[in-house]
Amino acid sequence: MTLRFSPTLARRTRLLGDGDIGDGPVLYWMSREQRSEDHWPLLAAAEAAASLKRPLVCAFCFSRSFCGAQKRHYTFLVQGLKDTESKMKKQNVKMLFLFGDPGQAIASLAESLQAALLVLDFDPLPEKRAWKAALLRRIRTPLYETDGHNIIPAWITSPKKEYSAATFRKKVQPLLPSFLEEFPPFPSLPLWERHTIEHRHTLEEAVSNVQPGNAGPTIEWIAPGASKARETLRNFLSEKLSGYDTRRNDPTLSGVSGLSPWLHFGQLSPQRVALEAMKEPPSPGRDAFLEELLVRRELADNFCLYEPKAGTYDGLPEWGRKTLALHKNDSRPSLYSLTSLERGETADLLWNAAQREMVARGKMHGWLRMYWAKKILEWTETPEEAFERALLLNDRYELDGRDPNGIAGVSWAIGGLHDRPWANRQVFGMIRYMNDRGAARKFKVNRYIEEAESLIATRR
Ligand SMILES: Cc1cc2nc3c(=O)[nH]c(=O)nc-3n(C[C@H](O)[C@H](O)[C@H](O)COP(=O)(O)OP(=O)(O)OC[C@H]3O[C@@H](n4cnc5c(N)ncnc54)[C@H](O)[C@@H]3O)c2cc1C
Repeated sequence: MTLRFSPTLARRTRLLGDGDIGDGPVLYWMSREQRSEDHWPLLAAAEAAASLKRPLVCAFCFSRSFCGAQKRHYTFLVQGLKDTESKMKKQNVKMLFLFGDPGQAIASLAESLQAALLVLDFDPLPEKRAWKAALLRRIRTPLYETDGHNIIPAWITSPKKEYSAATFRKKVQPLLPSFLEEFPPFPSLPLWERHTIEHRHTLEEAVSNVQPGNAGPTIEWIAPGASKARETLRNFLSEKLSGYDTRRNDPTLSGVSGLSPWLHFGQLSPQRVALEAMKEPPSPGRDAFLEELLVRRELADNFCLYEPKAGTYDGLPEWGRKTLALHKNDSRPSLYSLTSLERGETADLLWNAAQREMVARGKMHGWLRMYWAKKILEWTETPEEAFERALLLNDRYELDGRDPNGIAGVSWAIGGLHDRPWANRQVFGMIRYMNDRGAARKFKVNRYIEEAESLIATRR
């Protein structure tokens, strides 16, 4: 039996596996979208619960490790989930915290609850796709997937891997007016009162089983949670949006939104960000911001959804791998070990400052991220190893790491993903090159280095 969603939710939801509706509550497996409001998958699960007159249970499952996530990442995640849990309570949604292999743990929970059906949030990250496949093999109730991260569900914007932002943009533009809509109200639901299942742990108990690495100091300058995310969004829109186009590439001007950690952990809805930005007067700054938020961000999901080898060197475009192979034996200006890179001990002071800022604060400015990854290509023996190093350092230290944006960003910088061939040169072949002269044209490099060193010292 299949369930009928309202048109708004039906077009954001797809059936992954059919089955018989169980006698228990509706189960929502929350993973990427860790908030209580502006949340399409939660709304889909709530709508199903309301129409079946069942309670709604929401489960979050911790696995032993996740893509190199460190203590700093779990701290941000857990604080955000505490906030979400207390808000969910007010909506009569019971949150359960599990630990284990997620595909297996969620399937067992669904069985022990006799779940009516299961809804999960869309995430094209390779690890998440593997969890989902494992769940699909085990589950016997209907399983639905709703996209809460893309304004237009990734499978609707395009049925294939897009070549570039230009080809993707053409598909986004006609669909956007209809998908960029307000969220419907949350339905009223009966409370779930059966407290006898064995999978129930507190958030603290579940997370205590995780074994994260301890790289980098604890991060205190940025507060997790939806309230701080909303406040940062409001300040960005009122103070910086109109100048975003001219200021975003200068790391000394703080002209960017800084929203990516909250967006990554699903504590802030990209659709809410876009809706609020659209209320501001039209400007080149607003257009440039929406291009990054809508086109570039959703293009990264498109890549991870349709490229089975995304996140590996073999996932890079063929022309990129070919040109890099032709230059594999070119002599490199310098070669650094992973440890020297990680410690920011190269001869390039700008690069060192950016790397050390990322280690200390979990955040590197967007322009510097491009420069940073391209230098790793220049300073590493093979492009394959450069790709691995860049992704590893990005995911180990960036608060917003372990994200399709990170995979696409590193694949762009090192392998020419979504880019075109440029003039042929040593080491890079036809991959776009960036150097310190380009940086000096964009901003005052010494000023950035001084400011970064002071932020690193005070960890503010
Ligand atoms: C080598 C490299 C690695 C990267 N790793 C990550 C990562 O791990 N996680 C991550 O979220 N982003 C990553 N990016 C993309 C981008 O640099 C960051 O999203 C941006 O710097 C985040 O800061 P912000 O929120 O202030 O961005 P803003 O400039 O304010 O942009 C607003 C939002 O738009 C999206 N966005 C902006 N630029 C891009 C882009 N180039 N590609 C996709 N989406 C974009 C982000 O969601 C961002 O939060 C990477 C880029 C490169 C070149």
